[in-house]
Amino acid sequence: MSKQNNITEKISLRKCVGCQKLFERTSLIRIMSEKSSGNILIEPEKKHYGRSVYLCKNEYCLKNALKKNKLSKSLKKKISDTNLEKIKGYFKAS
Ligand SMILES: [Zn+2]
Repeated sequence: MSKQNNITEKISLRKCVGCQKLFERTSLIRIMSEKSSGNILIEPEKKHYGRSVYLCKNEYCLKNALKKNKLSKSLKKKISDTNLEKIKGYFKAS
């Protein structure tokens, strides 16, 4: 039991759907399709449950994810124009 191993296990890595690289969960933006309502949520609170994807906080990865429809494929849901604008707006604002 080394301390180092414990630390490594606690870092949760997620894959960005834009660039397919692994990053720490905290440095990625989470986009979720909520199970009950079907709403698209950005950085949802823990009480929400659904399928989610992760993206780097940059427009390059967002564009990449949208270009190949990776976002809607990963969420198994078509993303409406309204939700798309919401997501784009979030990336522009940050
Ligand atoms: Zn990325």
